[in-house]
Amino acid sequence: MRIAEHIVDLVGNTPLVRLHSVTAGIGATVAAKVEYLNPGGSVKDRIAVKMVDAAEASGELRPGGTIVEPTSGNTGVGLALVAQRRGYHCIFVCPDKVSEDKRNVLRAYGAEVVVCPTSVPPDHPDSYYSTSDRLVRETEGAWKPNQYANVNGPASHYETTGPEIWADTDGKITHFICGVGTGGTITGTGRYLKEVSGGKVQVIGVDPEGSVYSGGTGRPYLVEGVGEDFWPTAYDPSIPDGIEAVSDADAFNMTRRLAREEGLLVGGSCGMATVGALRVAATLPDDALVVVLLPDGGRGYLSKIFNDDWMSSYGFLRSPLDGHEVQTRV
Ligand code: PMP
Repeated sequence: MRIAEHIVDLVGNTPLVRLHSVTAGIGATVAAKVEYLNPGGSVKDRIAVKMVDAAEASGELRPGGTIVEPTSGNTGVGLALVAQRRGYHCIFVCPDKVSEDKRNVLRAYGAEVVVCPTSVPPDHPDSYYSTSDRLVRETEGAWKPNQYANVNGPASHYETTGPEIWADTDGKITHFICGVGTGGTITGTGRYLKEVSGGKVQVIGVDPEGSVYSGGTGRPYLVEGVGEDFWPTAYDPSIPDGIEAVSDADAFNMTRRLAREEGLLVGGSCGMATVGALRVAATLPDDALVVVLLPDGGRGYLSKIFNDDWMSSYGFLRSPLDGHEVQTRV
């Protein structure tokens, strides 16, 4: 029988799927790694398992303890799943730009959610970084995974995401493309793929226009989960061979195309990464094999990216969702 003991045991081993429609005119193969098929719905389940394992082993997290973390939602879901299984309490601190839907998901899993303003700098007492530090000080048995600096984030990708991609492409991957938030995914996966291929696999990061990785100052952008206004230590800048900057408008319109044309209902950072992947793929020969990692699903963004009024209010709307006329034959 194949019955998993617990849903957390099913993290990882996500599939690759070929993109067909958005790649029109491109000869290279572009395959997407579909991370929303993780039990918590995102790539972040991977780091949650590894960070908690390591904190238990080191004694930083003790039985009955509380996990406190600033998270845009996905890391929270992963941590909440692991916490439920192992009897920990969770408090998550979210910036206010994170959708209400995402916050409610965290609450549904049993976590407490504290919301902070996006418009203040990271060192401001109300920032979500400062607030989580205060909660750690004030909560007994608190442990802060700190995904921005925790080496077990990149390590989880080095141990799982990278080897999965290498195995599933029979070592034929030529380019790995992924969005950069904490930088953990690109650092761990990219490091593994470079090592195993003897430096042959090219690694390209993608971030929102205005974020530091592509030379910005942290100017606000709306795509969630990627881009930073500081340099996290989870990110090793020696790993990427290049960084592509993508606008919110391009990211969100591609996100809508992935749902409509590829059957992939995914989040905005997936559209962003795909725009970057297609830019790279367009320059490559037909025998290139590009893998783009899609971090999460689209259901947390229905009232934003998949809402025509919201898209219009920012001037992003290019193709309305309900704008296709129905053809009838008489
Ligand atoms: N996309 C989404 C939706 C995310 O939640 C994250 C994690 N912050 C990323 C992309 C980026 O991953 P990483 O933090 O590993 O760079």
